[in-house]
Amino acid sequence: MAVSDHVSLEEFLDGVKKRNEGQTEFIQAVQEVAQDVYEFIADKEEYHEARILRRITEPDRIVSFRVCWEDDDHKVHVQRGWRVQNNNAIGPYKGGIRFHPTVNESVLKFLAFEQTFKNSLTGLPMGGAKGGSNFDPRGKSDSEVMRFCQSFMTELCRHIGPDIDVPAGDIGVGSREIGYMFGQYKRITNRWEGVLTGKGQEYGGSKMRPEATGYGAVYFLCNMLRHRDESIEGKSAVISGSGNVALHAAEKFRELGGKVLTLSDSDGFIHDPDGIDEEKLEWIKDLKLNRSGRISEYADEFSGAEFHEDKRPWHVEADCALPCATQNELEEEGAKALVGNGVIAVAEGANMPSTLKAVKVFHNAEIMYGPGKAANAGGVAVSGLEMSQNSERISWEHEKLHDMLTGLMSDIHDKCVEHGGDGEAKNGEYVDYVKGANIAGFKKVADAMLAFGVM
Ligand code: NDP
Repeated sequence: MAVSDHVSLEEFLDGVKKRNEGQTEFIQAVQEVAQDVYEFIADKEEYHEARILRRITEPDRIVSFRVCWEDDDHKVHVQRGWRVQNNNAIGPYKGGIRFHPTVNESVLKFLAFEQTFKNSLTGLPMGGAKGGSNFDPRGKSDSEVMRFCQSFMTELCRHIGPDIDVPAGDIGVGSREIGYMFGQYKRITNRWEGVLTGKGQEYGGSKMRPEATGYGAVYFLCNMLRHRDESIEGKSAVISGSGNVALHAAEKFRELGGKVLTLSDSDGFIHDPDGIDEEKLEWIKDLKLNRSGRISEYADEFSGAEFHEDKRPWHVEADCALPCATQNELEEEGAKALVGNGVIAVAEGANMPSTLKAVKVFHNAEIMYGPGKAANAGGVAVSGLEMSQNSERISWEHEKLHDMLTGLMSDIHDKCVEHGGDGEAKNGEYVDYVKGANIAGFKKVADAMLAFGVM
């Protein structure tokens, strides 16, 4: 029988800070989860005895490796690659790969930690992981990206597999990069297996996967609004980002009768008071996907729209906000501006886009706030369905997948209400979606860990 471990929340967090010095994003993510989990396990001795929270905050393993590649001028570059395998208690490790200059161990540890709870919330058998490199695909030729991806996979392939760890895309990793990495895995192992998700539909990719994260975030928003007898019809939204998640969120928000006012990239944001309609959205997709353009070009193309350099869109008045770019892009001041302008709901397409102080502002104002680990889980959920299709050697139809996605998002919403409300999913009541998502996500993983004993 293990000895009980009743350290206080403050002592626990001090330990996390000491063991992970300088890893601010990881510490921030742990702090947010630990606050809620501590309350939940206060009277549950078994979790204390087994030191479950302490174990979940220590990744199973972190693989770090050198990635060498040659540019088109034959200059050799040396980059760093990682895979953080956080926890595989409930299924094979699963989580995206990010290529961006800001990638470091702290960012990947926070993402792998969050992924563990998000994957648990989907109800599908997937553990949590994340990987990436500080490589920047922007401005690189296709050949350069191909050589980098092949070099990255040459090492990564030793650590992944359909029953071990199944990576996917994330910032800077879209269908092009997934194609290059999948091809290299297949070449090295001589096996065709569902080792990556987000693949092209010609070679095992799932229908609905590209749309799933952005659409899922809007469906989560619909569920939150419905809980308060509201809908998207006639509402306005500020959205950040102009990548995969942001553009699909904008598309679905508009389709459901809403008006999208903003989109952004790392240069700034555009504000179109007339709304970004279908035609304008198609223009942006072409700009971003085919012409590697910048969002500022929108203001030159469409009269009435303005570009705000180096600014974020949170001061624009709107009913809803969907941060869909990157972590910590919505700070306290932005949250206050949103609340001051009467925002009623925030649904996060990105991972941890709101700082802890911003989240506090939303909670104090009692607006509906759906954290990324719940609101953007549609992407990994359809990735989980891609794994099932690959195992069955079958491809499901769009309609079936769409129905499954809406059902999954509704189930995730209900789990949040169960643990973040008063337990009865009553319409109209205030729900702490962060607490709901943290507790529901934690419980399943923790109970699996208890079943395995001490390891
Ligand atoms: P993309 O690479 O397709 O797009 C990212 C967008 O965010 C771009 O518009 C990019 O602008 C902007 N951006 C990136 N970094 C910054 C920064 N530091 N400051 C300002 N803007 C920035 O990525 P995704 O759309 O796939 O991912 C967006 C978010 O959603 C991430 O947090 C990701 O982890 C999360 N997510 C993605 C999932 C998916 O299925 N793709 C699943 C679940 C979560 P620029 O072009 O200038 O860099």
